[in-house]
Amino acid sequence: MKVMKFGGTSVGKPQRMVDVATLITADNEPKIVVLSAVSGTTNALVEIGASLASGNRDEARKRIDALEVQYRSFVQELLQTEQGRAKGDAILQEHFEFLTIILRISYSEALSKDILAQGELLSTKLFSAYLEEKGIRHSLLPALDFMRIDSNDEPQVEVIREHLSRLIGQHAGVSLFITQGFICRNAKGEVDNLRRGGSDYSASLIGAAVNATVCEIWTDISGMHNNDPRVVDRTMPIEQLSFDEAAELAYFGAKILHPASIWPAQQYNTPVKLLNTMEPQAKGTLISEASVAKGVKAIAAKDRITAIKIKSSRMLLAYGFLRKVFEVFEKYRTPIDMITTSEVAVSVTIDNDSALSEIMTELEVFGTVDVDANQTIICIVGNEIASEPATLQHIFESLQGIEVRMVSYGGSVHNISLLVAGDKKVSVLQQLNRGLFKL
Ligand code: ADP
Ligand code: ASP
Ligand code: MG
Repeated sequence: MKVMKFGGTSVGKPQRMVDVATLITADNEPKIVVLSAVSGTTNALVEIGASLASGNRDEARKRIDALEVQYRSFVQELLQTEQGRAKGDAILQEHFEFLTIILRISYSEALSKDILAQGELLSTKLFSAYLEEKGIRHSLLPALDFMRIDSNDEPQVEVIREHLSRLIGQHAGVSLFITQGFICRNAKGEVDNLRRGGSDYSASLIGAAVNATVCEIWTDISGMHNNDPRVVDRTMPIEQLSFDEAAELAYFGAKILHPASIWPAQQYNTPVKLLNTMEPQAKGTLISEASVAKGVKAIAAKDRITAIKIKSSRMLLAYGFLRKVFEVFEKYRTPIDMITTSEVAVSVTIDNDSALSEIMTELEVFGTVDVDANQTIICIVGNEIASEPATLQHIFESLQGIEVRMVSYGGSVHNISLLVAGDKKVSVLQQLNRGLFKL
């Protein structure tokens, strides 16, 4: 069994859905196809939720109407037979009726999750209608019937495995399954999701749950590039990455993969391939246990980072100080990304600043606390790069004129991270591209 996940742009137009149908029927291997929402839909649903949250029902209605117009023409173009179009219209009827009903009920966090789920429900049902029109045998597996997260929002792979094998078992003789990425049910049984970009995570969780031979992530670029192609002109695809390298890049900002999407693949040893729907013959990137070439492979950047420095002379020669500092972050369930220490100060970075003021109040008991918002972590990844003296030299030579706020070196031999002011991100990425890759 293999898993094939197609992102928003890969299903973003009727013709793209037709191309996806060709890709998934190219061989007879049993597969689970995971689809994102049509590109732009989740953003539109977020805006509808925001309009409702602020009590602006007229604006919400206008946004819903605009989305419906877009989907009506999508159906006309995707489906050709009278029967197919009737099916497509019925799907739109059901989901836009739901969106109309929400205009009349009071807004809540749970309702906003229901709204967001409409994107993946629509894309998979319309795609299924297309496959049906073409006579391609398949079954739709509702993600809400098997994808589960616990009360800490952690996916429950073994529960997912049980539900999925039961569901698949109900469709004897079927070897093509279609399901929604992103959406799941939480510990309370409510509709929830795996956060933005979460369809990659759905795919790797499904891959782990069914012991897939491979988890293919099909998107709009031919694999993981050595640098962020959105801000750096000359970037190139990487043929092979280890799970560790890919996980660091995903966590530290390479948008092509959801930050958490590598651990299920690594834990259950499922190779992951990053492929391009628009250029299916391109090699893409293979992510597996093996780390092949040594040296720097890629650079990624994570924005909106907050740096916190706690300075206290009480830290001098004291033990137990760091524990007390870390306990404050633990209490507020706020993960720390980077840490540097000196004898009298410790600096840490966080990307979730929702409990910042409470954290600061507690840290101020220990000493002086300075906070810098809008920082960026630049993460340089490669096999054993921290053990190559020349790499460090090239990095610092490339950074002329840039003030580096923190450096994390030696925590892992595969990663060197730097903290710089957010407005320096683009120049740092470009300068490192020239210095480390000669691009
Ligand atoms: P999908 O909708 O298929 O999930 P995404 O937009 O989430 O696609 O991810 C693909 C995009 O990630 C690319 O179009 C590219 O702009 C961006 N991206 C950011 N960093 C990288 C990188 N290092 N390598 C490849 N793509 C990257
Ligand atoms: N549709 C969701 C989003 O836009 C999930 C995904 O595309 O991966 O975030
Ligand atoms: Mg994505």
